[in-house]
Amino acid sequence: MDQNKIKEAVRLFLEGIGEDPEREGLLDTPDRVARMCEEIYGGLGCNAEEHLSKQFSAEGSEMVLEKDITFYSTCEHHLLPFYGKVHIAYIPDGKVVGLSKLARTVEVYARRPQIQEQLTTQIAEALWQNLKPKGVMVMIEAEHMCMTMRGIKKPGSKTVTYAKRGCFENDPEKQKEFMEMIRI
Ligand code: ZN
Repeated sequence: MDQNKIKEAVRLFLEGIGEDPEREGLLDTPDRVARMCEEIYGGLGCNAEEHLSKQFSAEGSEMVLEKDITFYSTCEHHLLPFYGKVHIAYIPDGKVVGLSKLARTVEVYARRPQIQEQLTTQIAEALWQNLKPKGVMVMIEAEHMCMTMRGIKKPGSKTVTYAKRGCFENDPEKQKEFMEMIRI
């Protein structure tokens, strides 16, 4: 990440909106934003494979569900936050991963300019490709600041997206089981 470019851009941005980047309260802002970017866009250049490559053998093929994984991401259209919960289920085919690795996978794709639909697909695809399970289903429920603090201003409205792979795609029973388990 190019910290100097970010700092320069923030200074220009502040000037652009009619602020004075030299006033006391804003003096350190470019520096702060640049450091913050390391964190909130830190998923760029990361790969979920590094988290999902450590796998364990497991018998059985019951659904594994990790629900209510809190995430924060940035909408690539407005550079405003969107945030909420990710629910991930998969049906192993002999291999499982540590549960924390599912949250790590979410971080890799959430910490970059993003749209919710793509975030959902990327998480599902990462599991599908790396773990080769019998099926994967991912659901994201999120609130978008670009919908609540600007534009149509509908606080509390949630956007819900799904991605399904493998046996979840054509099996309404499996999808129903997933929905029931995340509502418990
Ligand atoms: Zn937006």
